[in-house]
Amino acid sequence: MQSNAVLATLQPNYNILSPSRFYSSSASAAATFLPVFYPQRTRFSAPQYLKLDKQVLASASGRYVHEVKSPFKNAAVLSDSYSSEASELADIEWDNLGFGLLPTDYMYMMKCSQGGNFSKGELQRFGNIELNPSAGVLNYGQGLFEGLKAYRKEDGNILLFRPEENALRMRQGAERMCMPAPTVDQFVEAVKETVLANKRWVPPPGKGSLYIRPLLMGSGAVLGLAPAPEYTFLIYVSPVGNYFKEGVAPINLIVEHELHRATPGGTGGVKTIGNYAAVLKAQSAAKAKGYSDVLYLDCVHKKYLEEVSSCNIFVVKGNVISTPAIKGTILPGITRKSIIDVARSQGFQVEERFVPVDELLDADEVFCTGTAVVVSPVGSITYKGKRVPYGVDGFGAVAQQLYSVLTRLQMGLIDDKMNWTVELS
Ligand SMILES: *Cc1c(COP(=O)(O)O)cnc(C)c1O
Repeated sequence: MQSNAVLATLQPNYNILSPSRFYSSSASAAATFLPVFYPQRTRFSAPQYLKLDKQVLASASGRYVHEVKSPFKNAAVLSDSYSSEASELADIEWDNLGFGLLPTDYMYMMKCSQGGNFSKGELQRFGNIELNPSAGVLNYGQGLFEGLKAYRKEDGNILLFRPEENALRMRQGAERMCMPAPTVDQFVEAVKETVLANKRWVPPPGKGSLYIRPLLMGSGAVLGLAPAPEYTFLIYVSPVGNYFKEGVAPINLIVEHELHRATPGGTGGVKTIGNYAAVLKAQSAAKAKGYSDVLYLDCVHKKYLEEVSSCNIFVVKGNVISTPAIKGTILPGITRKSIIDVARSQGFQVEERFVPVDELLDADEVFCTGTAVVVSPVGSITYKGKRVPYGVDGFGAVAQQLYSVLTRLQMGLIDDKMNWTVELS
């Protein structure tokens, strides 16, 4: 017979999120055996897993899991019959979700050797993973990430937004970073499986979305600089609300004219992990001065707009909406691409071109786009000590209109004539 402790390790991790959720007697009795899912809160190194005999155990959600051999610990894997009570909602405070990690039930994992093909991906309980200290991703930054969202519709079904675009972008990034990548089908199927397995974490309509984070990394050991001998594709998810602490209020940007995010010939155009540690210094300095984020200029002329740390930028003047052209140093955002199409469908003229920083001075509106930020209005931009304000409060009319069309499409509230959404039920 299984002990309570063993069962507790297979219970959903939200038990450790807040003391008030330590209500389950088996969970509290077994607290000292719980895997360390949340290192920020649990500093000591508890046993990472309990050795289970290969056996089928009922998980707390009524799904069945069994242990499999894997180099990753906490490696309990879903069997085929997990779909039972997917319609239930997780027991968390759904109002006021921010953009932080809430651990969910399952993550997806798939491996491949250098020169091989990805196959046999599987869901596992969400938890820590184990890597060789010499893993390519840890030593040389051979890694990519993606980001997309799932929304819950009023009828309970779930919508993904253009997941095949994320798959294609990961494949382009993988080519640049000398990594094998899942096929578009493998990627999209893996996203669907992961979302359905974590369905109870998709916020109710209007409360937010499930952020989906696919990772691709060189997980094999290398010492000399070279592509890793093995790769891991992983997907984890977290329910999220607003990205900026401002919520839906306009953000305030500062133009950075010394540090740069990307260089011609570099990797700015792909979502490789190293691009993001590199912007922390400028971002931290900006936040310390009260700004929301940094707006980068091109590194050659220091004159043309590029983008913000993790979102694209648009400038509105009359009926014309301009955004920096994609030329290798700007991340080709899927939200950017979608907003360009939405804006044209709404009768705006959209220009992808070099946008000189001076144009910020007499713009009517500025807004940012990205999966995480959706469409964020910019309230002011500060450049060389001069602050240029936009609007009085809240969204500008154009940003509001585009935000409204895009989000209603993503949430299934209007007809998807573009065929952008993928429905899961
Ligand atoms: C991810 C990202 C974006 C936005 O891309 P979306 O596909 O719209 O989410 C923009 N800029 C950078 C630097 C990014 O990493």
